[in-house]
Amino acid sequence: MKLFDTHVHLSDAKFQDLRPQVLGNMKAAGVELCIDVACDLRKVQVTRKLSDENANIYAAYGMHPHYAEAFTEKMLTELAEHMTHEKCVALGEIGLDYHYDFSPRDVQRKCFREQLELALALKVPVIFHIREAFGDCMEILRSVRGRGLCGVMHCYSGSYEVARECMDMGLYIAFGGSLTFSGAHNLREVAAKLPLERVLLETDCPYLAPVPLRGKLNEPANIVYVAQQLAKLHGISADDAAQITFKNAVELFGINTD
Ligand SMILES: [Zn+2]
Ligand SMILES: [Zn+2]
Repeated sequence: MKLFDTHVHLSDAKFQDLRPQVLGNMKAAGVELCIDVACDLRKVQVTRKLSDENANIYAAYGMHPHYAEAFTEKMLTELAEHMTHEKCVALGEIGLDYHYDFSPRDVQRKCFREQLELALALKVPVIFHIREAFGDCMEILRSVRGRGLCGVMHCYSGSYEVARECMDMGLYIAFGGSLTFSGAHNLREVAAKLPLERVLLETDCPYLAPVPLRGKLNEPANIVYVAQQLAKLHGISADDAAQITFKNAVELFGINTD
């Protein structure tokens, strides 16, 4: 099996002493590539170092909506600079999180819009983090329609209709461990209806460990369980699901695998 974990936080301090082992497990499980997402622009050094030192780790940079209140003009300039790094393949994760509301919603929207504008200007793919905020998110995305938007709705949790509209806008939909959760009937229904050509896989590790590992520290190797779940929903082999989603990710993020 050949897999691409499109959303990891290996830079998280929880992995500090575990990285050699986790990277070994990742390789053994057939997870050939991953993207480490630096979601707090005040600390991006570990992501930078991981992606510089490991051929199989790519990077994304962006200010997560949780930290929107700490976002500054200077960071926007720094972000533009991060986008020029050789291993950087996306801007994100950016978006709106009305579940936790760690930053005021108007501040989240401003932070989101400014980074989105930068991504459009630089023509880089965007990694979207949207939680309980699809109404406002889609309004913002509709306002930039026709301007070459590309990217992925990470850890998707919305409806089929919203997923459809996202795909029509040129976006991919990514599923992680939550696809395996026992209560996730609606999400599985959505995933079963989407064309696999627009679907990506991710772990979002160290969070969201899939069944049967819930509650444990999640790691890229566990993406195999998500691939198996997606395959089951589409009546295909896990190998095929892995291969299709791998190809999708490579295309979206413009990665040369020769
Ligand atoms: Zn996220
Ligand atoms: Zn994340």
